[in-house]
Amino acid sequence: MTHEERANELLRQDYHCSQALFGAFAGDLGLDIKTALKLSTCFGVGMRQGDVCGCVTAGLMILGVAFGFDDPQERELEVFGNKKTEEFISLFKEAMGGSYLCKDILHTDVSNPQGMAKMRQEGLKFKICPNALAASIRILERMLQEYQDNMQDLDMVVLPEDDAMKSALRRVNKLTRFRRNVLALLSHCEGKIAFLQFDIRSFKVINDIYGEMIGDEILDFVTEGLKKLCGEQQYFVNLRSDVFMIVTPYEEEEELTVFVSCIRETLGDFKHVKLQYTFGIYIVDDRNMELRQMEDRAAMARKAAKENIMSDTAFYQEQFKEMLYTRRFIEDSMKSGITQRHFQMYLQPKYSISQHTIVGAEALVRWIHPVKGMIYPGEFIPVLEENGFIRNVDYYIWEEACRFIKRCEDEGITECPISVNVSRYHLVEGEFIQVLNGMIDRIGIEKQHLELEITETVNNQQISEMSGQLKDGGFMLLMDDFGSGYSSLSILLETPFDVIKIDKKFMENMLVSKKGRLILEQVVAMAKKLDLGLLAEGVETREQVELLQEIGCDMVQGFYYAKPMPAEEFYELLKEDRKLNAV
Ligand code: C2E
Ligand code: MG
Ligand code: MG
Repeated sequence: MTHEERANELLRQDYHCSQALFGAFAGDLGLDIKTALKLSTCFGVGMRQGDVCGCVTAGLMILGVAFGFDDPQERELEVFGNKKTEEFISLFKEAMGGSYLCKDILHTDVSNPQGMAKMRQEGLKFKICPNALAASIRILERMLQEYQDNMQDLDMVVLPEDDAMKSALRRVNKLTRFRRNVLALLSHCEGKIAFLQFDIRSFKVINDIYGEMIGDEILDFVTEGLKKLCGEQQYFVNLRSDVFMIVTPYEEEEELTVFVSCIRETLGDFKHVKLQYTFGIYIVDDRNMELRQMEDRAAMARKAAKENIMSDTAFYQEQFKEMLYTRRFIEDSMKSGITQRHFQMYLQPKYSISQHTIVGAEALVRWIHPVKGMIYPGEFIPVLEENGFIRNVDYYIWEEACRFIKRCEDEGITECPISVNVSRYHLVEGEFIQVLNGMIDRIGIEKQHLELEITETVNNQQISEMSGQLKDGGFMLLMDDFGSGYSSLSILLETPFDVIKIDKKFMENMLVSKKGRLILEQVVAMAKKLDLGLLAEGVETREQVELLQEIGCDMVQGFYYAKPMPAEEFYELLKEDRKLNAV
């Protein structure tokens, strides 16, 4: 029996259209007809209210079940599913003369008794519904066949570059196959099993420097390498971008570290590009756990390895779960953090030791969460830098800073420049320069009252280029955290900074060792020779202040003077300070 014959048979048995359609495809979906009819009784709600035709709700259910979109965390699946939904609806509308509403198709509204009576009297269900069913069946048969074909020859055909849909499908297919293999391994293999996830260090930077073509070639190179390295029962997949996952049986833990070394060495060089990796390993201890959770644990270990300077590999530990929860929490609430103004600008004063006066302030973001309370930037900025949301937070804080400056200018408060932090994220994009200029013009402040703090990154070349543009655009540039990285001196030579902010680590060292003090003296001397302004961060004690004064560093910022505070509080402090100094 064809789908259409089956559907019409059900219609004759007085089932409504969504039941007839879903029932006709029951066999294709691996459902028995009884279950299919029971399930589909509830899809007809829209239709009974004179709204969406039951063929549409049932059609979409059929596609959903057939494609198996059961993973809400898989963005590509979601995109694919949405596209297919749109495709179905649009083809259905086209076939039904532009509508997908029950009342338009039947020319009567079955949500009221009169409409229902009319439908019965005129036998509309048997005149019109078969057309809607036939149209849906034609569309579904074609879409399901297409999906089948794609699944089968995805590995054989070379897909055109621009066919994003097909390549998404290919990845989905690979992932599904990988997960199926892993599930089989977990249920059959009696020995130990580990999940190993790794990524390429600074892959984004590699893409930026060498271009995306080389980036793609590197990913192919890794995939090919893994094909050779992985033996029987070792499964791997490219999860997304530069993130790979391998699942492997093993006997001794040492085998895992040897395997990691093997990847590190075999895949360490692509043409002239040096590749470094970060590995996370989860040793399966509970086979009843969901696959997704096991994958998450390997991912957590990989992320932890990123923060480890001593080793590029980390094994999963229970406490990583906490990190994941925090990350999820941040990602779930960051948007409302902006819309509901939970992100706030705090200001920390900068002082001149000799003049006993406030000479500026740094804007520092605080997240005042209604339930969690105050969250400090160290907790959320790394996550926001990874997912790009830092853009929104920075723009928000910069705008607040500009408004604060405007208020000071309007009130005639003598010069108090406010510095804002510019995340390394912006330096890759460059869009922020225009945004900053737009803000300054719109709010109407003097450009020199807004200063920019920049920290060195893995790619100082980029900082130097971007800083050149900023400098030409008339911005005042502060080098943040000087001395905390590895190449502070070289970046200083290449980049037109106006002020260097000495990192708080220097403050600590200066007190404990002679060497520390000597280095600091040299930094101060160098800054003077280079005609650079100098500010010491993290000043906490009277002793540090005296030492800084002795060696000639006058500008300071630190808890000794004041902690970061809400803008309003700083405004009052500033007014007080100006009053005192005017006397
Ligand atoms: P930073 O720019 O170097 O800011 C100075 C940090 O040192 C601030 O931490 C400040 O509260 C802290 N600090 C100031 N004086 C002392 C002191 O005497 N002792 C100690 N121990 N610490 C002191 P905070 O506010 O937690 O910010 C941490 C980092 O987060 C900042 O370091 C900056 O890199 C980043 N950040 C803060 N706000 C923003 C923002 O709006 N945008 C971006 N992109 N990054 C931000
Ligand atoms: Mg800063
Ligand atoms: Mg700093």
